[in-house]
Amino acid sequence: MSKYQNNKYFFINQEIALSASQYPSIKHIFPSSLGIIFIGKISTSILTNLGFYINKLFNSFFYKILFIGELEIPSILYERGIKKEHNLLNQTFKKVILQPTNKLYCIIKNLMKEHNINVGLGLTDLPIYSSNDESLLFLFGESNINHRCAIVSTHNLIPQFNKESGYNFKDGNRIIKEAIHEIGHIIIGLEHCLTADCVMRFSKNIEEIDNKSVNLCEKCQSRLNEVRLKNNF
Ligand SMILES: [Zn+2]
Ligand SMILES: [Zn+2]
Repeated sequence: MSKYQNNKYFFINQEIALSASQYPSIKHIFPSSLGIIFIGKISTSILTNLGFYINKLFNSFFYKILFIGELEIPSILYERGIKKEHNLLNQTFKKVILQPTNKLYCIIKNLMKEHNINVGLGLTDLPIYSSNDESLLFLFGESNINHRCAIVSTHNLIPQFNKESGYNFKDGNRIIKEAIHEIGHIIIGLEHCLTADCVMRFSKNIEEIDNKSVNLCEKCQSRLNEVRLKNNF
């Protein structure tokens, strides 16, 4: 069902011209193949659990899950479009480099093309900001429905002291919830759910992520079923 590849890719002539525009339309692309792409220094220890929850929640939406890693942003691209900002969460005086989501979408899209994948989810330890709205800094994740790809940043999901020692159960769960949330957007659209513990609820901080479950509520489940019906599977 799934396969893990441990190749290193380097993108030398990468164009950063991907449109960030998002039109909340549900494309008829399912059942589909899903690529999970590791960018930067990110532990692959969550793979088994992530694969389990993707299969559990989006059962039959993905006939193949391909894991691709570990990638690095090539040095020629690294500085392009970055922002340097204080991370208020860690309260340090040192500014942090944030990468624009568009750059990561480009890397993901290139890999999707190369591996013939329809939906791509990037996981990165790098802090990110939204190319759609540049005031949105240190995002947990963002999806681009038009390009059928999404990115999740673990930077503010995991406490600094856990980054070297390895993720604990809670850290892993947060990453899985945000990954499921972004894949959910690609399938059922950009709207957020208001149900308290639904994974499609918007979380503005890690406490809110910890308070929601990794499951879809009944309403979101029926939206998923609507997409299934529309796509005849
Ligand atoms: Zn969302
Ligand atoms: Zn819901």
